[in-house]
Amino acid sequence: MIVKIDSIGRILIPKKYREEFNLNPNSEANMLPLPDGIGVSLFRLVPRCANCGEEKELEKFENISLCPTCRRVLKYALK
Ligand SMILES: [Zn+2]
Repeated sequence: MIVKIDSIGRILIPKKYREEFNLNPNSEANMLPLPDGIGVSLFRLVPRCANCGEEKELEKFENISLCPTCRRVLKYALK
């Protein structure tokens, strides 16, 4: 699929890919260069628990994202 880069460097990610890869407004993505300078890849960043990798119900604790289970374990350990 061919896309155009506008005058300030933006591209429109086609709706098909936004839907397929769950790229919603305000989603964060990581853009990485491909080997040999042939282009870049875009990877959606999925927030995960810093301890176990869970993706649901994350909350910050001391500036790290934790799931409910890990927050409970940490709070218990800190008592
Ligand atoms: Zn966790």
